[in-house]
Amino acid sequence: MSERDRVGAVVRAALDQHPALRPGRALVQRAAQLRPDQGVLAAVHHQHRRAHAADVLRGVEALLRWQTPEGENVPPATFIPVLEETGLLEEVGFWLFERALQDATCWRDAGLEPIEIAVNVSPVQLRHPGFLSRMKSIADEWHRAGAGLAIELTETAVLRDTDVVVRTLRELSSAGIRLALDDFGTGHSSLSLLAKLPVHELKIDRSFVALLGAQPRNAALVEAVRSMARAFGLGTVAEGIETPTQLQQLIGLGCEVGQGFLLGRPAGPDEILERFAPGR
Ligand code: C2E
Ligand code: MG
Ligand code: MG
Repeated sequence: MSERDRVGAVVRAALDQHPALRPGRALVQRAAQLRPDQGVLAAVHHQHRRAHAADVLRGVEALLRWQTPEGENVPPATFIPVLEETGLLEEVGFWLFERALQDATCWRDAGLEPIEIAVNVSPVQLRHPGFLSRMKSIADEWHRAGAGLAIELTETAVLRDTDVVVRTLRELSSAGIRLALDDFGTGHSSLSLLAKLPVHELKIDRSFVALLGAQPRNAALVEAVRSMARAFGLGTVAEGIETPTQLQQLIGLGCEVGQGFLLGRPAGPDEILERFAPGR
């Protein structure tokens, strides 16, 4: 059975057992009705991030994509909660690591410099009993292939069972996985927690970037996060850069790495290769 068929079968079986899920369920169920010749059950798109000053590629973020056989895109905000509730996100999540590693290997074979791929991990995945051991073997596999691996977690993911989470993250970090706090500033940004967490990077939420010009306090906030990150020895990535003005302001505020539609929309692995392969 191919990987795609395997994930499709798992999704279908679990959805059959959960007849009364939230409204998004119908869409996901349709997306799960995979026929080999129809549509895509799940795909991985990548959005790159760029270091502005040197204009260099600084890795990509892998984002899960679902499309119904009719070609309708189902947003992650709809299907991730459904996958979480059906207990399927772990399986789909690990499938995503496999796919992302395949993409990294393809890019390398095509002559692209090795780049880091960041994968989003939800609190449900993080707390799954087998998560740590499976991540360690994933990390081994990635390192053997010469690929860099990072995971992105939101602040809320680390708030519950903090001691257990901190221990898990330390082990992941020792296994060579870099850790980023996603959507930073929108959760309960606790400074004491930040001091304890073995994170490497803060991703400044796009809501602050969107309002940079409109509300001076947002610029102050971005600057404060940037200097705090520097003091903690962490990197920052500004998310959701959509306009040249935002980009210029962020550069002025010392945010040297960014991600957003202005720099590039999430795209399939072939398109990423097209964009970044040497000589293009
Ligand atoms: P995120 O991790 O913060 O990912 C960034 C989201 O912002 C992506 O939306 C991306 O397409 C969008 N984005 C990037 N640049 C811009 C921009 O300039 N403007 C605007 N308006 N949006 C921008 P997407 O793919 O819909 O994902 C939404 C969220 O779903 C992600 O937020 C992440 O939390 C979650 N997600 C996506 N893929 C996965 C996955 O594989 N596993 C898990 N657990 N969560 C995922
Ligand atoms: Mg993310
Ligand atoms: Mg984010």
